[in-house]
Amino acid sequence: MAAPAASSAVPSSAPAASRRRSRAGGVRQRCQWLIFWVPVVFIGSILAWSYYAYVAQLCLLTMTNIGEKVVCLIAYHLFFMMFLWSYWKTIFTLPMNPSKEFHLSYADKELMERESRTETHQEVLKRVARDLPIYTRTMSGAIRYCDRCQLVKPDRCHHCSVCDKCILKMDHHCPWVNNCVGFSNYKFFLLFLAYSLLYCLFIVATDLQYFIRFWTNGLPDTQAKFHIMFLFFAAAMFSVSLSSLFGYHCWLVSKNKSTLEAFRAPIFRHRTDKNGFSLGFSKNLKQVFGDEKKYWLLPIFTSLGDGCSFPTCLVNQDLEQAFTPTGHSSSSKNENNHHFPAKPLRDSQSHLLTDPQSWIETSTSLEKNKLGISNPALTMENET
Ligand SMILES: [Zn+2]
Ligand SMILES: [Zn+2]
Repeated sequence: MAAPAASSAVPSSAPAASRRRSRAGGVRQRCQWLIFWVPVVFIGSILAWSYYAYVAQLCLLTMTNIGEKVVCLIAYHLFFMMFLWSYWKTIFTLPMNPSKEFHLSYADKELMERESRTETHQEVLKRVARDLPIYTRTMSGAIRYCDRCQLVKPDRCHHCSVCDKCILKMDHHCPWVNNCVGFSNYKFFLLFLAYSLLYCLFIVATDLQYFIRFWTNGLPDTQAKFHIMFLFFAAAMFSVSLSSLFGYHCWLVSKNKSTLEAFRAPIFRHRTDKNGFSLGFSKNLKQVFGDEKKYWLLPIFTSLGDGCSFPTCLVNQDLEQAFTPTGHSSSSKNENNHHFPAKPLRDSQSHLLTDPQSWIETSTSLEKNKLGISNPALTMENET
């Protein structure tokens, strides 16, 4: 009897128990998917209720001054729309994964699987990484490699265990947006924090006098008074937690760090440097928000770069260190020079680099000088 199409992933000779396990796995995955959306639904419900409580109960039914009513409604809708827009973009912007240059070729994958020797793995990774703009290493000085995705990790890229993918410039996986916050949506996430904080502060400020009246029996005895009270409590509570989170991310942006990098400083080829990607306050800000200030407050993607390679204040130092003592110039090693990125850098990014030669990797001789003798191990290391 022919095996049903739905079970094509399982060999027809597989025992029924195995198929049951597979079905159970599918059900578990679907349940997990639903559970992951619970925090987003929770935020959405709070937002919907706050809209009803503020617009209907406070503005339309409680406020008596027509001028106050109009101003509050216009300002409220402005904050509400910006909050919703940035929240939406944070949730539904797909995280970016490393481009194909970082993936091992089929032949390399086969070689890695066939050969158990660590030295062979080292050689393969070293050869692949030679053509890439990678400046960070693992703690042991090895090339950062993701076993799961079978790729050489670009700088600032990490494997997310929830998404089960490598995410470019991963900041963290946020359950409140059910998405990874990384290169593609970090600006949206920041704006989401900023607008949600403004939204809450605006509600607190305009609801305060009615909240006081609630306690002094100055409000008519309707259900509106309870909406007004809970609205104030909820907005005040969220304001406190959002302000600390937003403040922390402002500090991260000013230092050009991700949350992960704040916990574990990036390790460069020569040393660990917690501020290795920092280019100065103004340039750090532009890395996330872009060159054009008119787009800074809008949840439109304007971050600089391609997410795979980042300017670092240490790159030029490295090249100088490599060339100066011997007096060699990069042009003398043309045979082994490799240029990256394959995609040209945007003008807006390239001006951040003080020296366009930063991208030139004099791989063979340089790697030997820098890593080969004193730091021979390009060992395999699983990094999460
Ligand atoms: Zn990965
Ligand atoms: Zn994730």
